[in-house]
Amino acid sequence: MAVQLNVSRFIDELIEKAIKQGVSDLHFEPYADQYRIRSRIDGLLHEFAFPAFNLSANITSRLKIMANLNIAEKRLPQDGRFSFKQEHRLIDCRVSTCPTIFGEKLVVRILDARQMQRNIEKLGFESEQLKQLTKVLGQSQGMVIVTGPTGSGKTVTLYALLDSVNKLDKNICTVEDPVEIHLPGLNQVNINPKAGLEFSHILRAFLRQDPDIIMVGEMRDLETAEIAMKASQTGHLVLSTLHTNSAAHTLIRLNQMGVSSYNLAHSVSLIIAQRLVRKLCDHCKVKTVLPKSVLNEQGYKYDFVYLAQGCSHCRFGYKGRLALFEILPVSTQVQDAVLQHAKVKDLCQLQKTMGFSSLREMGLNKVSAGETTLDEVNRVT
Ligand SMILES: [Zn+2]
Repeated sequence: MAVQLNVSRFIDELIEKAIKQGVSDLHFEPYADQYRIRSRIDGLLHEFAFPAFNLSANITSRLKIMANLNIAEKRLPQDGRFSFKQEHRLIDCRVSTCPTIFGEKLVVRILDARQMQRNIEKLGFESEQLKQLTKVLGQSQGMVIVTGPTGSGKTVTLYALLDSVNKLDKNICTVEDPVEIHLPGLNQVNINPKAGLEFSHILRAFLRQDPDIIMVGEMRDLETAEIAMKASQTGHLVLSTLHTNSAAHTLIRLNQMGVSSYNLAHSVSLIIAQRLVRKLCDHCKVKTVLPKSVLNEQGYKYDFVYLAQGCSHCRFGYKGRLALFEILPVSTQVQDAVLQHAKVKDLCQLQKTMGFSSLREMGLNKVSAGETTLDEVNRVT
């Protein structure tokens, strides 16, 4: 009993500390002779705690109880969630389990809505990018796609876009896997493959419910993509995501999935590609002059950069993160190019002609402004 009490208190204190530090995920990891807890802050993992090895089973059970999971089931992965109360706020935590060779590994994802920037003007778009984006979000039909690898901040951008169109006179429906943040005023639905409820089924149901704006968490298959495309051509604004590397790649990828060039050209209004880089700490960053030839080789046209140092205000010279964006508005030229089966490099060229910078160019601008390092930009672009 005493051990259980201590374990509950230990976990509560751990989660409290994690929320205060802005941790996005806590990893509870069993190994042959130790039990380790790591935390992800600003995209990277750090050691967080080393509880006594013999407490691992109690910690696992306690977290599974909190998330309403079956504690007797240790051989199959499970998913659940709980709400954690801190300073009069309820913070959603999503728990997943996975049977590793030394026992169950648990990951607790902390969905602290306060940590998420939901104002599109504050996400970090350049002014011309924001202007284009606002224009397409104001239209009654079309499709906006957000792309990037896992952990590139797509979800936050998508919720910020939804928040900007969330008005009383609009019926907004979202289908997600799973719903990450509850936004008041939206009809949010989780997919449930066990019950046969996939993205495509829910999308069809939405279309019978007089929607204005539809958010599809991810276009994973052709069927979902085609229903979403059709909806975006018939008076609905559709928002969605895809895992691709760049805005231009997105059009090619959808084409390869089987979406016709005609549908692509007439559905997609704008594509956003994004990455997250760590932000330099203002207290300790140092400006250094380096040989211009070395920097020019990397596409950077100045002779100075800022380096990360580390101080009591930050972690290894970095504090917080910053988004890099590139956008590709599907203009009539882009539509023509898609219809003529253009290659990625042709689409990138068009993007440049229209005056929109690539992810790397935006990153290099942030390097010269002293907001991040060349290492960070090289890591993600
Ligand atoms: Zn610092």
